[in-house]
Amino acid sequence: MRPRLLDLLACPKCRRELRRGDEKLVCATCASSFPIQNNVPVFLSEPVEVVALEHESNALGAEFEEILSRGEALVLHLGAGATPRRYPNCVEFEHKIFRHTDVVGDAHALPFRDNAFDRVFAFNVFEHLRDPWLAAREIHRVLKPGGEVALHTAFLQPLHEAPNHFYNATEYGVREWFRDFTIERCEVSGNFSPGFMLGFIAASLLDTLPQRGAQAEVAGSTIGQWAEFWRRKAAPPAGFNALLTLPAELQKRVSAGFELRARKAGRR
Ligand SMILES: [Zn+2]
Repeated sequence: MRPRLLDLLACPKCRRELRRGDEKLVCATCASSFPIQNNVPVFLSEPVEVVALEHESNALGAEFEEILSRGEALVLHLGAGATPRRYPNCVEFEHKIFRHTDVVGDAHALPFRDNAFDRVFAFNVFEHLRDPWLAAREIHRVLKPGGEVALHTAFLQPLHEAPNHFYNATEYGVREWFRDFTIERCEVSGNFSPGFMLGFIAASLLDTLPQRGAQAEVAGSTIGQWAEFWRRKAAPPAGFNALLTLPAELQKRVSAGFELRARKAGRR
């Protein structure tokens, strides 16, 4: 375990102090116990995957790397993945053990004390959370007064990391999740510009088309043709029927929406 981590940690069940035991952390108040695996405290009940050390995620981007390099702020990095570089003032939080992971746990019940961090980073995490409202409240709790959160999350993105992809949010949805905060700005960062949106969706769409012929038809159509069709000014472009008749499971990756039918338990 990294030095001084115990000063930041708290029992995720009762939020009280944890004590170091033999290869575990123990809550002095509620007696819950949490194993230490590969030198990382684990606050999940299910088995935790250890990811190969050589696996490396993308860099954070210059602005955030600079904050970490300055080292003035104590940062909680949620969903850190396999960071290229480890920073002494950054606590990396994950649900697997990656090369630099400090703590394994659940973002809905952060195992940290109140008012512990100057900053929280959560990049490409929130679309994968079952209850983003709760996770945002947890971030609010562990931030010091005046502390800041920086978030990147999905809006128009295809299904990814299924089944753990729950929400694609509009700006207003993101603001709603973080309604307890003073929101300074909610903008489109360079990595999410409309060009990337088109590329991501187009690539996923073409990947869903199993037959080469249908794939080529859609690949050869133009965005203008699809727009004219949407505006009811033209017939659908080539490939429309291939997409309409795609297997349901494949349509789910890139459809415009869902129809749900559900039933209340019991007999009518
Ligand atoms: Zn406890």
